Amino acid sequence: DDTILELRDVTRTFRISQGMFRQKATLTAVAGVSLKVKRGEVYALVGESGSGKSTLAKMLLGLLPPSSGEILIDGTPIAATDRIAVARRIQPIFQDPYSSLNPRKSISQLIALPLVVHGIGTSAERQKKVAEMLDVVGLPRRLLDASPSQLSGGQRQRVAIARALVMKPEVVICDEPTSALDVSVQAQILNLLLELKKELGLTYFFISHNLAVVEHLADRVAVMYLGRFVEERTRAGLFAQPRHPYTRALLESVLTPDPDLGVPDTHLGATFPNPLTPVAGCAFHPRCPSALEICRVAPPPVAQQPDGWATCHLAQAASSPAPQPAH
Ligand code: SF4
Ligand code: MG
Repeated sequence: DDTILELRDVTRTFRISQGMFRQKATLTAVAGVSLKVKRGEVYALVGESGSGKSTLAKMLLGLLPPSSGEILIDGTPIAATDRIAVARRIQPIFQDPYSSLNPRKSISQLIALPLVVHGIGTSAERQKKVAEMLDVVGLPRRLLDASPSQLSGGQRQRVAIARALVMKPEVVICDEPTSALDVSVQAQILNLLLELKKELGLTYFFISHNLAVVEHLADRVAVMYLGRFVEERTRAGLFAQPRHPYTRALLESVLTPDPDLGVPDTHLGATFPNPLTPVAGCAFHPRCPSALEICRVAPPPVAQQPDGWATCHLAQAASSPAPQPAH
């Protein structure tokens, strides 16, 4: 089996207080997600902000336990794996290198941090390793003693990548790694990530709200809506013939003049639904341009596709042409 990362029916709920009387309510951030990421693959996860992507990322990193279900790395449950072993296998690259890099540390200290935290190597060994990592991510060694404020946004993201890779992980969780960068720099960083993947044999779990970014590098794509996966396909299949109306809406938003400015315009109405208000039937039906009567009452079945699946009443007949949105 070439599966390196697996989720089995993973759910994460939060108890929160809301309203003027601080009533307790349960927020289901991730609802029954199962997936398998293959070794060497770029597995992309796409959805609007609030869909549960970041909660999923925290669970993959072992920073947040699932409420139920299991996460396995190389066949071993993360819950049963000690912190160093998890850190050696999975490392994150986050969205905003401005906030994830401590401004009072030098570049050298920042890259060495995971080694220090986990007590790996002597000080001299760590310094050698850090200098090598600068070469790997294409930063000049003269920046070793610089502070993050002296670096450009792209250079800071290279530091964040060096810090993730210094542990020699097998899997890298990339959570919106280029969203905070200028468009021209985004392409450089994405190309660097692809080169490093090839060179170091990495597997990427790549989280983004931007399908244009995902189209550049994903092997497979999962689309998440209100805590659930609604479609999982190969990149080619998803972009050629999306089966879920939500995926189609996201794809249309890629075609708007500037998809990188904030939340994509999905033509689905401005308001993302309140995740605390349960919706009967298909959770997407209040926004779905193709909704049928049955969608208001019955949860959609999983419709298998030749290259994946989608959960939609309309996607059930794989051979029928994808229905067009009504608007
Ligand atoms: Fe739209 Fe119905 Fe499909 Fe849900 S099941 S996405 S409401 S067509
Ligand atoms: Mg997020």
